[in-house]
Amino acid sequence: MLSNKKTQVKVIKKGIKYICESEKIDRAREKLEVIINSDTFKEKVRNYISYGKKQFIQNNGFSNEEVLQRLLEGSEILNKRIDYLWEVHLTIIKRPWYKRFSSVNGFTYPNTLEIKIYRDSFNSMSDAFLAAFMAHEQCHNLGFEHDFRRTARRPFSVPYAVGGIISKLIREVY
Ligand SMILES: [Zn+2]
Repeated sequence: MLSNKKTQVKVIKKGIKYICESEKIDRAREKLEVIINSDTFKEKVRNYISYGKKQFIQNNGFSNEEVLQRLLEGSEILNKRIDYLWEVHLTIIKRPWYKRFSSVNGFTYPNTLEIKIYRDSFNSMSDAFLAAFMAHEQCHNLGFEHDFRRTARRPFSVPYAVGGIISKLIREVY
């Protein structure tokens, strides 16, 4: 059963150079927290449809309701604590020269909660997109994966779908 506890979003910021960067993260954090606790968000996850069925792709065998529960419980694969807390470790880094033509905004790895974001991507993102980016990477930290390549099914994976729901809702609400 889904608890009615509020899920908190905490961001541990690293690599900040300017106060405006820190302020942008704070705005995105606040919006993200409001949205993931909203009834609209919960309904959108519960009723998510892909390939004609109520399901996410690569859902680890979970129903939409179970995906929602896992998202809100905030039990990262690295600490396994149900703490209703998204602890987002966000580090802004310089994009290496050999990735200068890449469209990738950032990344995380299974062995760390650290989320890296390239400064040029960070600067070009709206608050809504940054919130969606943090949510996407947080989905990875909560154990949800997607295809590496741009496959037809990738948009329906939990990280992409949830990121999309969040950026859309933020743009509608704010
Ligand atoms: Zn991803």
